[in-house]
Amino acid sequence: MNISSSLVKYLALYGLLNGFITVANAATPINLRGHTEDILQSLNKSEALRHTNLKEVKRYEDFNHVLHVRVQQTYADYPVWGADAVIHIPRTEQAHLGSSPVKFDLIKNAKLNGKIYKNIAEDLSRSPTLLYTADQQKKAENQAINLYQKKSGNKTVLVNKKSQKIIYIDKNNKAHWAYLISLVSTKSHSMPAKPIYILDASTFEVYSEWNNIKTLDAVDGAGYGGNKKIGRQVYNGMMHNFPTLSVSRDSALQTCFLQNDRVVVKDIRNDHAIVQYHCEKTDPNHNDAYLNNIDQSTDLLAYSPDNDALYYAGKVDTMYQDWFKMPVLINPNNLPMRIVINTHEDTSNAWWDEDVNEITFGDGDRKYFLPFASQSIISHEISHGFTTQHSNLSPSNLQSAALHEAFSDMAAQAFEYYLTKNNNWKVGSEITMRTDALRYIDNPRHDCIGLPPYIELKGLKIRICSIDHMKDYIEDPNYYIEEHFSCGIFNKAFYLLSTSKGWDVKKAFSVMVQANIAYWTPTSNFADAACGVIEAAHDYGYSQKDVAKAFLAVGINTSKC
Ligand SMILES: [Zn+2]
Repeated sequence: MNISSSLVKYLALYGLLNGFITVANAATPINLRGHTEDILQSLNKSEALRHTNLKEVKRYEDFNHVLHVRVQQTYADYPVWGADAVIHIPRTEQAHLGSSPVKFDLIKNAKLNGKIYKNIAEDLSRSPTLLYTADQQKKAENQAINLYQKKSGNKTVLVNKKSQKIIYIDKNNKAHWAYLISLVSTKSHSMPAKPIYILDASTFEVYSEWNNIKTLDAVDGAGYGGNKKIGRQVYNGMMHNFPTLSVSRDSALQTCFLQNDRVVVKDIRNDHAIVQYHCEKTDPNHNDAYLNNIDQSTDLLAYSPDNDALYYAGKVDTMYQDWFKMPVLINPNNLPMRIVINTHEDTSNAWWDEDVNEITFGDGDRKYFLPFASQSIISHEISHGFTTQHSNLSPSNLQSAALHEAFSDMAAQAFEYYLTKNNNWKVGSEITMRTDALRYIDNPRHDCIGLPPYIELKGLKIRICSIDHMKDYIEDPNYYIEEHFSCGIFNKAFYLLSTSKGWDVKKAFSVMVQANIAYWTPTSNFADAACGVIEAAHDYGYSQKDVAKAFLAVGINTSKC
């Protein structure tokens, strides 16, 4: 008992003492900001800066004629990794400096910034001549090649491009003799890669490694979505879960980005930076995808609106591609346009901005609305983009504005059908907290329950819930029916057509898409637009009678089309 207790004390004392000595003598960073050229003149002279020098790397004279000289610290003539500084010399002091390399003894009135290390000599007692032999270097290079091949899981053919002897200062500010090994893969055999390793010159311990190729790999991401109303969704492609997320990965930074060929998600709160997360390695519990572990449900009551935006926007595009052989958004050259989504706006709304071709989703107030990035709202908003790029229905005209909304609501139904082969005929049901949904396609006037249909404001009668028949569409300057309520007329016709004998949601949406592409014009009203749908049905060889019947049921007579 006594023996072991005194042993513990002894070890503790030894550890403390050892730690104390190490800290007192190990390499110590010097922040050069605020230093004058005096420190440069003590290089190689003071005990703390023994064998230390600064080597000019390059110089640049700016528009104020200030000369900025970049220098790299060396120790015993070997570069010290991460020890770089800049000397700023005013114009008045440059005349006597001469050409490169800069002579420190002649510098006056300079400013400095950057970082160098003192007391390196305390860590590097062993002579480098024993470690920096040709034989040892070859071993280090082979070790780096083996490590990369093992990590990349294939027989990547690598050649050694460059090896450098350096001083590496680790996290505890301890200096080591090290090798910086740069490899390059031969393109014909594998994906291009430029792995770089910093290895201890004696033990070959890896101090740092990265890939110097700045391309992003398309990889599978995993993560969470959904919200407190619909429940949590898991994106990992495993049984009963949602598919994986298509993300991009920078292997050097070990960072994944919520972007792929078709969609990019940007965070308004973070200066519109592409949403990103640390992704060092794949997660075996999530189908070997790179897991984004974020869960924002405490603040936002939604797990990750960003993941939902990336997933559903990509799927909306896939629906248009699968069904209509076209991307949902195109650029002026008729090529696919990437869907740009901005998330986390501090508002209870979502919109398509036709001036910049971008979509924005608010986070909701979490009292009436959850974050808007959800299945039906995403498909609705992106489809506004589709309409803008085809018929370009005018938002300045009440009926064409209502058609704009109706097409997007129909697209949300089509999208639900595409994903699930089912429809609940609701828009926004995922995000409303006080009501069941925003709009009801099968029975638009459902949102009128418990409300007076109109409120009066300064003699103007303003509709505050949906209509679903032309008899309620009052064209009178004393009445105002906003487009999100008057779109109920076309929405109801779409529901009736989708559920007609021999029709389904895909078939009904197909004729709407064809009408939008080929027949509707910016100022189309309900009657014109219905005629366009009849023509679209004809194009497909579908029953025009069924279409006419659906429109007649909401008071639109197409007999004169
Ligand atoms: Zn809308």
